[in-house]
Formats: sequence, C-alpha cells, structure tokens
Amino acid sequence: MKVYNTLTNRKEEFVPIEENKVKMYVCGPTVYGLIHIGNARPYVIFDTIRRYLEYKGYDVTYVQNFTDVDDKIIKRANEEGVSTEVITERYIKEALKDAEGLNVEPATYHPLATKEMPYIIEMIKTLIEKGYAYEKEGTVYYDTKAFSDYGKLSGKKLDDLIAGASNRVDADSNKKCPADFVLWKPKKEGEPFWESPWSEGRPGWHIECSVMAKRYLGDTIDIHAGGEDLIFPHHENEIAQSEAANGAPFAHYWLHNGFINVDNEKMSKSKGNFFTLRDIVAEVPYDVVRFFILNGHYRSPINFSRELMDAAGNGLLRIKNCVKGLSFHIANSEGDTLTEEEAALVNESGRFKEAFERAMDDDFNTADAIAAVFDFVKFANTNLNEKSTKAFGEALLKGINELCGILGIKTEDDKAEGDDEKIEALIAERTAAKKAKNYARADEIRAELSDMGIIIEDTRQGVRWSRK
Ligand code: AMP
Ligand code: ZN
Repeated sequence: MKVYNTLTNRKEEFVPIEENKVKMYVCGPTVYGLIHIGNARPYVIFDTIRRYLEYKGYDVTYVQNFTDVDDKIIKRANEEGVSTEVITERYIKEALKDAEGLNVEPATYHPLATKEMPYIIEMIKTLIEKGYAYEKEGTVYYDTKAFSDYGKLSGKKLDDLIAGASNRVDADSNKKCPADFVLWKPKKEGEPFWESPWSEGRPGWHIECSVMAKRYLGDTIDIHAGGEDLIFPHHENEIAQSEAANGAPFAHYWLHNGFINVDNEKMSKSKGNFFTLRDIVAEVPYDVVRFFILNGHYRSPINFSRELMDAAGNGLLRIKNCVKGLSFHIANSEGDTLTEEEAALVNESGRFKEAFERAMDDDFNTADAIAAVFDFVKFANTNLNEKSTKAFGEALLKGINELCGILGIKTEDDKAEGDDEKIEALIAERTAAKKAKNYARADEIRAELSDMGIIIEDTRQGVRWSRK
C-alpha cells in the first residue's frame, strides 16, 4: 500500500511502527460554529482511510481533537453573552451529529485542549528546559532557530520566513526571532485562563495537538493528517514542538486533503460563498455529500456546486437501485446453491474487488475505487435475471456491500429517514386494487408513486420498485 507523504513529497510504501497497528491523529475543527462543507472533507476522507486500514487488518487508534480554546470561540461567547463552554459544548454536539450523518465512525479518542492543561504546561516546561523555548512578560515563545529541522514539512526556509515576518508592522518585539511562535500567552480581560508558571493564560493552538497526540498515541505516531492549509504553520510547528520535547520523530506519514472550492472559487466567509454542512443537508442527504466527497481524489481540489452534488446523487442512486433489485430478488427467489455458470460469474466478479483494492492501495484513490463499484453494479444488473438462484443474488449483494462498506457508503436507506414503508403500503394497496379489478385505483396509485419519484415494475416475482 502506497501513501503520499507530504514530508517527503512522494508516494511511499506504508510500513507501520508496530506490526498490524496504526496510530493516527487528525486535526479536528475549532468549535465556534457549525462545521462547513470544507470541514466535512477531512472528516470523510480520513474516516475512509481508517476504514480501509481496518479492512486491511490493522488495528487503528484514531484520535481527532476538538479545538476548544481559540479567539474565535471567545468572540462568539462574548457576542452571545455566554461562557466559552456553552459555545464549545453546543458545537461539539453539532459536529458529532454531522459526523454521524456523514457515517463517520467515532474516533477512539476525541480529546479537548481544555481538559489537557497539566500536560500542555508540562510539555512547555520541557521545551524551556531543553532550550527550545523562552519566556518574556508572561508569554512563552518557541525558539525556531534552536530547531535545526524547522521547515522540513512545508519546505519553507527559516531565513525567508524571518525576512517576510520582519516587514510586518505589528511585529512582536518580545520575540527573539520574527518566526518564533507562541506556546503560552497571558489572558486578556474577560478571557478564560489557566494557572501556569508564566502567567494566568492559555496555550497556543499548535502545542495542543502536540500534547494530545503524545498523550493518546505516544511520542512517535504513524499518520498525522488534516487539510492542506494546516501544513504551515500548524503542522510545521507541531513537528518542532514534539520532536524537540520528545527527542523522537513525530509522525512517519503526513497526509493532507485538498480544499473544497465553491463554484470554482475559494470558499470563504468574506466572499459569502460559504456553506455550512447543515445548509447543504437541508437539500441533499448526508450520504450524497459523503459520496460527492469520495468522488474526487483526496489530494485534488474539488469544486462544490449543485450540479456536481446532483450528479453524485444520481451515481449513488444507481448503486442503491441495484442493491434494492438484488434484495428483492433474494426475497422472492429460491435456490441455495449456485449453478455452475453462476459460480463462474461470482468468481469472475472477484476482479472488481481486485480493482477496488488496487485503487485504494495507490494512495487511497477513492474515485477509481468507486469506478470499480460501478463496474460491479453493471455486472450485477447484466447477469441477474428472474431465473437466477437466490444464492447468486446473495453473492452479488455481499460483494457490492463489502466494497461500499469500506467507503462508508450505506447502500440501503435508513428506515427512519426513508419513505420505504409508505411506498410498500401503496404497492400493497395497488396489488389489492388490481386483484379486486379496481384498475382505476391501481392506476391512480401508480401515478402517485411516480410523482414521488418511484418507478414500479410488475415481474413474475412480484412488484419491484426503484427510485428515478
Ligand atoms: P478548522 O476548523 O478551520 O481548524 O478546520 C478543520 C479541518 O477542516 C482542518 O483539517 C482544515 O484543514 C479543514 N478545512 C477547512 N476548510 C476546508 C476546505 N475548504 N476544504 C477542505 N478542508 C478544509
Ligand atoms: Zn492540529
């Protein structure tokens, strides 16, 4: 299995530290509002990578934090006249709801920076003791010049960063070097704070992730992931902190997802082309959003538009309709043993799983993996007929469901959400009407179903329905 490593800028064979185990840390959202469609991308992508690793037999420990101390959170709390905890608790709950909707498996650990203060203070102390950090007027800074590998992830040179930062008028005169960054800062009036040896204050954002990764996974981890905007400065600074404090390499593989743009423009609040995931799921279901995200390679930028979302919806429907047809066949046919011809076809269908794995083994190419699922669907639609055995339907269904499951794609509608029961009831009523020779009512029901986007087909096995 090959993964693209931002640290080396190339695809590398994946070799975990411990056989069959993967330690993975994914930077989570800052919880001051509902997550947006951009945040949904790392959620879905790294969940899919985790699922694939698990499918390959790895025992994955997956850590995703919530950033719950931040200027934006304080601003929001002040605007609403409530404490920061009210804001963070509310939006953590909402983010978890969105994650569940997207069929993202809960992380093994979901740590919060505010609950890790003693460990954060401990790591900052270590950095000062080892000569990688210094304190000035209650603020602790990381001494970037002390860490010779600074810039190894982003490819930036410290000299260039210093030159760039020196031109800024708001430069902090307490810093030894303009590229230094804050590990701890004193509180301002009305801000939440914690006691520390340096001041009553709060940690910088970067140190939080270094500490949580160490606490829940150890000094050296296999995979560290997040959106590409985090490469610099966030991940660069995490490396500087963790490697200096722990005296060990931090992460072996750095994975970054590309951005989601809106109508081919960078999504941003100021441009007003910004969508929360909730805005979107008011119109298209969560599973379509997940499918849409997986339709592109995770490192490429993807464009969000209504047309592309609809196209993803149609693709997903093709899979769901095939699964519905297979389930219908299984419920309405017999034969627990495959015929010789069917056994050969099932054998042949193994090529879709091979193509799927080839795609995923090549830096998690979910777009090609989905293409393999579509080929499988086409194969099932072509080869299943009324004479097929039940066993054949079952074998095809199992194969398709297995691949979809790895991608976290549910092939059946949630009973609670879908209108399956109503549809089944109307179909039963139509069957009864036909039996009673009330053809006018039967036609009426067919028209009603058609208005609901349901096509029905009378087959020898009974009435089969699918969505348009
Ligand atoms: P934030 O709350 O801004 O720290 O972001 C949480 C996660 O979402 C990080 O991994 C970001 O890199 C990622 N992210 C933010 N915006 C986008 C976007 N437009 N497209 C893809 N990923 C994004
Ligand atoms: Zn982080």
